[in-house]
Amino acid sequence: MKVAIIGGGAAGLMAAATISETDPSVEVFLIERNPELGKKVVISGGGRCNVTTGIRDMRTLFSKYPRGSKFLSSALYGFPPERVYEWFESHGVPLKIEDDARVFPVSDDGRDIVNAFKKIFASTSVSVMLGRTAKFIEKKGDEFFIHCTNHSPFPVDKVILTTGGQAYRHTGSSGDGYGFSESLGHTITPLAASLSSFLSRDAWVKELAGVSWEYASLRTDRCATPEIAGAFLFTHHGITGPVVFAFSALAAFEVATPTKPMKIFINLFPDTAPEKMDDTIRTACKLHPKRSVENILGAIVPKSLAKQLCALTEINGETHGGEINNKQFAALAHIFQNLPITAIGRGAGDEFVTAGGVELSEVDPSTMQSKITPGLFFGGEILNIDGFTGGFNLQASWATGRLAGLSILK
Ligand SMILES: Cc1cc2nc3c(=O)[nH]c(=O)nc-3n(C[C@H](O)[C@H](O)[C@H](O)COP(=O)(O)OP(=O)(O)OC[C@H]3O[C@@H](n4cnc5c(N)ncnc54)[C@H](O)[C@@H]3O)c2cc1C
Repeated sequence: MKVAIIGGGAAGLMAAATISETDPSVEVFLIERNPELGKKVVISGGGRCNVTTGIRDMRTLFSKYPRGSKFLSSALYGFPPERVYEWFESHGVPLKIEDDARVFPVSDDGRDIVNAFKKIFASTSVSVMLGRTAKFIEKKGDEFFIHCTNHSPFPVDKVILTTGGQAYRHTGSSGDGYGFSESLGHTITPLAASLSSFLSRDAWVKELAGVSWEYASLRTDRCATPEIAGAFLFTHHGITGPVVFAFSALAAFEVATPTKPMKIFINLFPDTAPEKMDDTIRTACKLHPKRSVENILGAIVPKSLAKQLCALTEINGETHGGEINNKQFAALAHIFQNLPITAIGRGAGDEFVTAGGVELSEVDPSTMQSKITPGLFFGGEILNIDGFTGGFNLQASWATGRLAGLSILK
């Protein structure tokens, strides 16, 4: 049997390794447009490669995928994070779990992850075809013909599409697989950037550039999103950080442009009831009746942020704590939990993944095989699946790539 795997990223690498280690008699052609395998894997996690997660509870794991969690069930149960962990360790890459449950190579070097695959391919039947860009896939009878630039088309029995999404396009993942999928009868759902920062037009936001806050939640009045809390940072352009990325995933399909801005409300104390928030500010002011309110609030949040909170509530920061009236207490308590950011865009090209992709109802989740074109399989980000930061996207790619590889052998 001849199998073409289009795309030598996370899912393609795992699919090729799975096939060649399970049945060396299968001829595997791993087609990658770059001169190197796994370019995005190497740069992931800031070059350290957050290869999977230390989370073992499956319900918690599924909650980390805003899209595709149900579809991922077979793949993730078949190749859960602990088995991914064991797999890499048994292939010579010692891993470690950090305090926040992210898993990295002990070496903190993403190249070690890709090297593990290179070693497998050096001793198996996988033909790694680097610098080869697939242009078109044609199905004639039971065979697929792979058309690549500057090469004559060649026939294979099965195809696994692992061309990724279209985030960080310069890594080679430019969305080609969406066109291949459509030409083979599949639907591509609307696509959007996910795991991105937000740009804001608020001058006060930019003045706070560099100020970070450990634990906040975000919401918008555009759509309901489950509450997720975490750290964020003000930048010269807007806001970024783990909770912003998570929120961007939940609101991936909401428009945020200069002509149609999206209001994002930041709750700086998500675990505090509104009455308690009011109470905290009142008590602090009562304790320091002669101190300026800006100083009093500066003991609760960073001083520069306290200054902006006063400005946003139109309270003179020099007002003494003892002079704040009930209306002002209410306004302060409100702004602490509803800090309004005017988002006019997402960081251009800085998203980590693409939300949307191959329509999941057209793919068998227990095999990754197309329900429309027999012999065609999918793996990784090309599917309408995306996760939060924390190793969940690579975990999904390893698991779907492995499932596609195993299914081809059945
Ligand atoms: C900066 C950054 C950091 C990230 N960090 C993490 C992290 O730490 N942990 C995590 O879980 N996720 C992370 N992600 C997300 C994760 O890297 C991706 O979700 C994952 O790599 C997707 O795997 P994939 O195999 O589907 O696609 P990719 O890894 O994108 O691989 C697709 C491959 O297909 C090739 N290709 C595309 N079209 C063609 C064609 N026509 N012909 C030949 N080859 C083609 C591409 O060159 C590419 O090598 C990060 C993403 C980015 C951008």
